[in-house]
Amino acid sequence: MPSTPKETPSSILIIGSGVFGLSTAYALAQREAFKRTKITLLERMDFPAPDAASIDSSRIVRPDYPDPAYAALMAESHKYWRGDFGAEGRYTESGLCLVTDHPDDSAESASGNYLVKALENVKKSLGLKVGRREDGGQVEPLESARAVNRVMASMGGDCGQSGYVNWTSGWADAEAGMHYMRKLVAATGRVEFRTAEVERLHYGESKVESVELASGEQLHADLIILATGAWTPKLIDLRGIASATGQVLAYIDITQTEQDRFGSNPTLLSESSGMFIIQPRSRQLKVARHGYGYANFVTIPHPERPESAGEKITVSLPRTKQDDPNINIPPEGDAACRAYLRKTIPDLADRPWTQTRICWYTDTINGDWLIDYHPTYSNLFLTTGGSGHAYKFLPVVGERIVDIVLGVERDELGASVRRKWRWPEKRGGDDHVWTGDWRGGVKGMVLDEELARGGTVEKEKARL
Ligand SMILES: Cc1cc2nc3c(=O)[nH]c(=O)nc-3n(C[C@H](O)[C@H](O)[C@H](O)COP(=O)(O)OP(=O)(O)OC[C@H]3O[C@@H](n4cnc5c(N)ncnc54)[C@H](O)[C@@H]3O)c2cc1C
Repeated sequence: MPSTPKETPSSILIIGSGVFGLSTAYALAQREAFKRTKITLLERMDFPAPDAASIDSSRIVRPDYPDPAYAALMAESHKYWRGDFGAEGRYTESGLCLVTDHPDDSAESASGNYLVKALENVKKSLGLKVGRREDGGQVEPLESARAVNRVMASMGGDCGQSGYVNWTSGWADAEAGMHYMRKLVAATGRVEFRTAEVERLHYGESKVESVELASGEQLHADLIILATGAWTPKLIDLRGIASATGQVLAYIDITQTEQDRFGSNPTLLSESSGMFIIQPRSRQLKVARHGYGYANFVTIPHPERPESAGEKITVSLPRTKQDDPNINIPPEGDAACRAYLRKTIPDLADRPWTQTRICWYTDTINGDWLIDYHPTYSNLFLTTGGSGHAYKFLPVVGERIVDIVLGVERDELGASVRRKWRWPEKRGGDDHVWTGDWRGGVKGMVLDEELARGGTVEKEKARL
C-alpha cells in the first residue's frame, strides 16, 4: 500500500501544467505545511500547451453525476465558477440538456442509464427544485422527444428522445479558466515555473532518484508529482491502470445571426452516442464525442527499467498536432460529428469544419481519477486519470489532492474520494484501458487503422 511521508518535503517538483498540476500548485502554495518548501512547476511547452486536455474553447461544468461524491465536489467547485473564478465570461450558466437517443433507454443504452441515475442524484443530493424554469424549477425531466425539442428549439432538428435539463449546469471557457488559475498561482509568489520536457524518471528500488530533462539535465526533489495527463504512461508503467485515448472534436464557423440563434442554448449531450454540442461563442460552434476513443499504440523503453536493460512495453500515448501538424480526426470520427450536426441542426448540416482535433483523455478502468502515492517509489505521487471529466473541478481539486499528499481526510467527502482515487490493488487484465464508464462510439478503435481507412465520410457513414 502507498504510504504518506512523515516529513514535509523541502522541495516538490510538479510535472505538467494542466488542471491537475496547476490546481495542485495553487493548493500547495497556500498550505501552511509547505511554507518552507520549494515548489517548481515544470511544463514541456510554453503555457498554455495547445494540445493539453485542459486547453480548449469550452468544457462542460455540471454536477450531473450518478455518484454523490463527484456531485458534492462539483457543489464546492460551483461556488468558485459562480464567483470571481468564472467572471469575465469564464463561466456561463446556460444549462445542460442530457438526453438519450433511444426511444426506450432502459434496453439499449450502453451507458447503463447514466442520465436516470444522474437526475435522481442531483434531485436527492443537491436538492434541486424540479419543474419548468419559468416556474422556478432548476431541473426539468423531459419525457418525450417533443419536450427535448422544446428546450432545444433553436437547433431545429432531432435533439433526443427524452432526458432532462439542469439549468444549474453550464460551461467554462477552458483556456481562459486555465489562464486565470495560472495567474492565481503566480500571484502566490511561491511557485517557480519552468518550461522543459521531462524525458524520463530514473527509478531506484524504492524511490525516484532523479528526473531527466530532454536536454539531459538531471533534477532532484524530495517529492515528485506527476501531472502529465495522457503522456503519463511514457514516464511510469500504467499498463492495466490508465491509458491515453483520442477523442474527436470538430469546429465550424457560424454567422452572427446563427450565434444569436444558438447562443443561449443549453449544452446538448447524448448519453447514447456520447455526442455533444456546447453553446457556441464568438461565432464558433464545436461538435465533439465523449467516446471510448482511439488507442495510439507505441512501443517504448520500459519507463521503470534502466535503458540498458533493453526491455520494451507497448502503451497508448497522445499523437497531436505538435507531433504531426497535418493530423485530423479519422473518417469514422468525422462521420460521427457530421451525422450529429446534421441530425440536431439540419441548417448547418454541410457547413465545412474549420478545424478538427484529437484531444487525449487519460482513461482509467472505471473513470475515477488516479491520485495517490506510487506503491513502490515513496517520493512519487501521481495525479492523473482525468477520464474526460476533471476540468470542471479546476478551482478545488488541488485542495483535495494536497489533502491526499498530506494523508488528511478533512471530511466525509475527503474519505470517499481518497478511496476512489487510490492506486488500484490490481491491474486490469488488458494492458490498454478502455474505460467502463458511459461512452459513445465503438470500443477498440486504433488510431492508425482508423486513419488508414482513408474512406470518404459518406463511406464511413455506411460502415457505422
Ligand atoms: C475532448 C475533451 C473534452 C472534455 N470535456 C470535458 C468537460 O466537458 N468537462 C470536464 O470537466 N472535463 C472535460 N474533459 C476532461 C478534462 O479536460 C481533463 O480531465 C483535464 O483537463 C485533464 O487535466 P490533466 O492535468 O490531467 O491533463 P493535461 O491538461 O493534458 O495536462 C498535462 C500537462 O502535462 C504536460 N506534459 C506532458 N508530458 C510532459 C513531460 N514529459 N514533461 C513536461 N510536461 C509534460 C503537457 O504538456 C500538459 O500541459 C475533456 C477532455 C477532453 C480531451
